[in-house]
Amino acid sequence: MARKIPSPVVTVEAEAFWNAARQGRFMLPVCAACGRAHWYPRAICPFCASDEITWRAASGKATIHTFSVMRRVKEPYAIAYVTLAEGPTMLTNIVDCDFDKLAVGQAVAVVFAATENGPPVPMFKPV
Ligand SMILES: [Zn+2]
Repeated sequence: MARKIPSPVVTVEAEAFWNAARQGRFMLPVCAACGRAHWYPRAICPFCASDEITWRAASGKATIHTFSVMRRVKEPYAIAYVTLAEGPTMLTNIVDCDFDKLAVGQAVAVVFAATENGPPVPMFKPV
């Protein structure tokens, strides 16, 4: 039986992200003024304070920054920070893998996981 994933809370700043996720597309907020991507979505760029935020399709490629495997539950899972190829770090889960073989620095790619009744959430699996 698969672990049930609660629906994400969709904020105004992240609406574009979740709408794209519903179509299986992984988008990141990118600042039009300084050109840097950031995560989580927000109205003001965390690097230069510009409010010119645009959305761009992201590669979905990342590396594991750090992770922890939760084993004392019925359906063990791996929680992790991954560093996206575009720069930002994202809190996520690592799925479809042998938890004993996970390693910091490992290459992973985005997969969307269905939630109980909201948009799918981005998770990552080893490539
Ligand atoms: Zn900026």
